[in-house]
This record gives sequence, structure tokens and C-alpha cells, in this order.
Amino acid sequence: MPKFYLQTYGCQMNVNESGVVRRVLDDAGFTETPDEQDADVLLMMTCSVRSHAEQRALGRLGTFRALRSERPGRVVGVLGCMAQRFGRNLVSDHRADIVVGPDEYLRLPELIAGVRAGTTGLVATCQTDVCYDSVLPARGLSQGGHRPQMPVSALVTVMRGCDNFCTYCIVPHVKGRERSRSLASILTEAERHIADGVKDITLLGQNVLAWRDGSRRFPELLDAVASALPATRIRFLTSHPRDLDAGLLEVMRRLPNVCPSIHLPVQSGSDPILARMNRGYTREEYLAKVALCRKYLPDVSLTTDVLVGFPSETEDDFRSTLDLIEQVRFDFAYMFRFSLRPGTGAERITPKVSEADAGRRLSRLIEVQNRITAGRNRELLGQTLELLIESPSPRDSGWLGRTITNKVVIVKGACAPGELVRCRVERINGWTPVAEVHARTAAVC
Ligand code: SF4
Repeated sequence: MPKFYLQTYGCQMNVNESGVVRRVLDDAGFTETPDEQDADVLLMMTCSVRSHAEQRALGRLGTFRALRSERPGRVVGVLGCMAQRFGRNLVSDHRADIVVGPDEYLRLPELIAGVRAGTTGLVATCQTDVCYDSVLPARGLSQGGHRPQMPVSALVTVMRGCDNFCTYCIVPHVKGRERSRSLASILTEAERHIADGVKDITLLGQNVLAWRDGSRRFPELLDAVASALPATRIRFLTSHPRDLDAGLLEVMRRLPNVCPSIHLPVQSGSDPILARMNRGYTREEYLAKVALCRKYLPDVSLTTDVLVGFPSETEDDFRSTLDLIEQVRFDFAYMFRFSLRPGTGAERITPKVSEADAGRRLSRLIEVQNRITAGRNRELLGQTLELLIESPSPRDSGWLGRTITNKVVIVKGACAPGELVRCRVERINGWTPVAEVHARTAAVC
């Protein structure tokens, strides 16, 4: 039985796309191995969002090629966004055997068989409207090399692609146009996860609020999934601020198992930069959405993405971003330095910001947000929280639990994955809350 090794780079969407690949290969009679030396097929799921991610993947491809030299007949494949962006160049310049874009994973067994039969350089990068509706993603291997028996959380991709064309973003260029899975197939997949013991489901999409099925929109999907699975925590990711409205927040307020946490990427606090990014909202409109979130859900946790060093960003623009960060007090932020992606609208925007200025701005931003995140978490001190236990803590003898607002807490005391425990936050370690178990609870809400 041929064995495959799969390495994943990039975002949660890629984690789930790797799950699709695992299922396709499982069904075709392959087995996964955690050991690249043991593999007949070496695959990487790649990310093109930043240049650095691509460079890392190309470096890793060198290792895969070396392994192929050691054992001729091994198959080396590049999957995902880089496969779509580089196409045949990954064969000619980087000597991959197969190159498979995001819409072509169902063809993997056939392509691998083609290489094993002696044909190399097989490239499948057609863009279609595939949603992998009937493919239940398989989970990755645990450290022991086995598929976990009792997963606690699962991702369910509800839509793919994006039509927004933010000028810094490669996603619409490599993942194609927005397309949604049917409500019925999403519910079927969610229910199968619950039957496997999952307690926490994240509805996933590049632009999740753009989901639609006929006349139904995302709030109806959220309502349907959360109502069908009342003992399961339901989250969603990633929301475009322009599409967030009172209808969505009303569903979140009404259904107690919809987690009051929203990831709402702002990217910049400056109107001229937001306009050049083609984000579709102004600073004031963004702040109004934040106020709306907090009006409907007073305890909501808000997280964001921020990009610094976008072409033409001045010190004043950057100060506006810092000011917005201070004003909103996000619970957490993913902060990045702009990385120019070939073919995106940002190529035409000048002047470029120097690496030194972008780096200095990023350091300052991280300093400010880290202080805010630590302060936000300190507000939990002394509170009793309901935590869903996910896994043993990798750094100490405790466990990692998650609040309904999506904060990770270290838990001291006897626990098991999937258990719901009530804990009192006793101290803050760095910025991570540490809590002691007080009681166990039966239901999520
Ligand atoms: S909304 Fe913008 S940043 Fe998000 S995936 Fe679409 S183009 Fe990229």
C-alpha cells in the first residue's frame, strides 16, 4: 500500500484542504506516514499569501528532491496556492513531479499513478467551481502517527474563493471566485463530526459572510447549524467588515452556542490606505461595525489582522492605525509587514515603503497590541469561566482549554479532551490565563 507524507503551510483553509487531500488519498488506498523517509509520495500544501511562505516551501521542496534522489520512484508533489501561481514552472525550475491547484485534488490518485507509471511533470491547475461537497476532510496524524480518535474541534469549509480583490491579496488570483457549498452538505458534514465526538465547529471561508445558497445568506446558515447542534460550540472565520450586519449579530445573540467571538480584519486605520487596499469601508464605518458588535454582544471578543508598510503608507497613516488599535482594544491581532505579491493591484501603487520603515512600524504595532492583549487577559483574573478542554499543554503539566470567546487558558487539574470544566482564573502567565478546575459541566451552554 503506497504511503504518503503531507506537510501543510499556511492558514486554516489550507489545514482543511489538506484534510480533503488526506480523504482523497485514503479512499484511493494510500496510507499516511508521519515519517518522510518512509514515504512513497511526498506532498506539500502551500501558501502564497507572503513571499516568505513561498521561500520556505521552495526550500522544503529541495529536501523532497533529495529524498527522491535517495529512492528513485518517489513522487514529489506541490499542492495548493503555489501550485496555482507557479504552475509548470514548479516542474521546469524546481523539478516537482506533480503540481496540483486548489480545485484539482480529486485527480491526485490519477496523477500519482501517472508518475509511478513513468510520466513526470503532470500539472493540474484548472480553476473550476468545485467545493468538495461530498469529501469529509480527514484529520492529520497525531504525534504517535495515528489519526486522533476523539477530536475536539473541527473545521467545516462552507465557501471557497473570494471576489473582493483587496489590492495586497493573492487569494482571488489563486483560489478563484466565490462559491458556496449547499446548506444540506454543510449540515451533513457537521453532523458527521459530531458523531465522531467533536464539540466545537468552525465554519470556514475565505470570505465566510459571502456564503449563499439560493436566497439564503450566512446568518441563516449559522442559525441552521447552531440550531441543529445545540450542544456544540459554533464559530466562523473570516468575516469581511463590510458584510457584517445586525442580522448576523441578532443570530449570535439569540443562539447561546454561537461563540461571541468575531475575527474582523481591519488591515489599516487610515482612510487613504483602506481605499488603496480596496477594502470597501472607511475607518469610521469599521468603528461603527465594532460598536454594533459590542451593542449586540457586550462580552464579544474581537480579533483582527493588521498590515503595515502597504505602498504609500506614511507615518501619519501608521499613527492612524495605532490610534484605531488603542481605540478598539482588540483581544488579539495578527500583525504583518506588507509583502508584495506579483499580479496584485498593489504592484501599481507607489511609493513603496522601505523595509526598515515597515519593520520599525511593525515592531511598534506589536508592542502596543501585546500590551493591550495582556491587559484584556488580565481582566479575566478571578473570573469563573467555562472551558472546553482541547489537549495537554505542550509546555507544562496542565491542559489547554478554550473559552466560548475563543481565548486559550492553561488549566490545572485532572481533565480530559472534550470535557467542559468550570475554572477560576488564578493568575496570568506571560499573557496566558492560568485557571484551576472548579466543576464539570454537562452541556456547552
Ligand atoms: S477579502 Fe480581501 S484579504 Fe480577504 S481573501 Fe478576499 S481579497 Fe484577500
